[in-house]
Amino acid sequence: MNFNRIRRKTKKIKIGSIAIGGDAPVAVQSMLNVPGHDYEAVCSQLHRLEEAGCDVVRMSVPDMAAVHVLGNVKESGFRLPLVADIHFDYRMAVEAAEAGADKIRINPGNIGSRERVRAVVTACRKHTIPIRIGVNGGSLEKDILEKYGAPTAEALAESAARHISILEEFDFSDIVIAIKSSHVPEMIRANELIAERYSYPIHLGVTEAGTPHMGLIKSSVGIGSLLCRGIGDTIRVSLTAPPEEEVREGRALLRALGMDSKFRMNFISCPTCGRTRIDIIRIAKEVEARTEAEGLTEKPLTVAVMGCAVNGPGEAKNADIGIAGGIGEALLIKKGEIIQKVPEDRIVDTLLNEIRRM
Ligand code: SF4
Repeated sequence: MNFNRIRRKTKKIKIGSIAIGGDAPVAVQSMLNVPGHDYEAVCSQLHRLEEAGCDVVRMSVPDMAAVHVLGNVKESGFRLPLVADIHFDYRMAVEAAEAGADKIRINPGNIGSRERVRAVVTACRKHTIPIRIGVNGGSLEKDILEKYGAPTAEALAESAARHISILEEFDFSDIVIAIKSSHVPEMIRANELIAERYSYPIHLGVTEAGTPHMGLIKSSVGIGSLLCRGIGDTIRVSLTAPPEEEVREGRALLRALGMDSKFRMNFISCPTCGRTRIDIIRIAKEVEARTEAEGLTEKPLTVAVMGCAVNGPGEAKNADIGIAGGIGEALLIKKGEIIQKVPEDRIVDTLLNEIRRM
């Protein structure tokens, strides 16, 4: 099963050096959490995000100091697309577009008069950059909240539709839609409603998902279940954690679905049981960490680390390369054939050597 094959047909939108939607791979996003006016801090976090595998970065642009930083980052030749996150002040959106932002995140229904919307649309059109509409449960319009009584999926979808229609009135269709909720079932339903109605690319995320453990579970269920049905073109795993961690988990989420264009290795390891006679937990962690650190995860290989010779060889045989543990040693199995017996202290190095050669 290849989930990429069942992806919904959407408009393809260019965001700087990458595309979102259409046949473009699902992109992983995160957001800076350092002050937008601090150039050094912004640059250093941007590079950490790039290293972690981020595809698109969003930064808050509340004032002209942040606009200048954004402009300087773009002038420095930084490669990743930058999204300017604007709240209410349409002038910041116009300035950010002029300064080189690759996308503007703004809700046209929140910025006042039609003239203000026109100014933002004109700036985005002039620089050929898209607008991301971002609706979430905590910032719904008062009348919509009153109509539905709570930030339900229908309320979120109606709010998004309202913002979309304002842009469409200006004949602007370079739109990415993001509807987020901290309530996973509502987030899923709201995105289904929008996907039924529009063919714009969709940004998926569970907002305020929480700390890394529970946040990742919520994001995996919310984002993952939609991706399994072909909905979603870019994702953010929101965590109360450094943004680099969001990116690593976002990539891992895509990897779990076989949708990651950057990390293609499928790593499997057994849960261990009473039959385990070698330190499989340490070995699995080490193999995973070292394959990532060396960039070996770009190889489209299935790598198996199995604890014993009872179920291990069978599982490892279906992998491209793997080990099945014994007592103080392991069998190295390549494409279904046992090729070597390896003492426990050499297992990780030997397996890595084989992976490098494949
Ligand atoms: Fe237990 Fe062997 Fe299965 Fe690992 S592979 S869980 S050690 S039976």
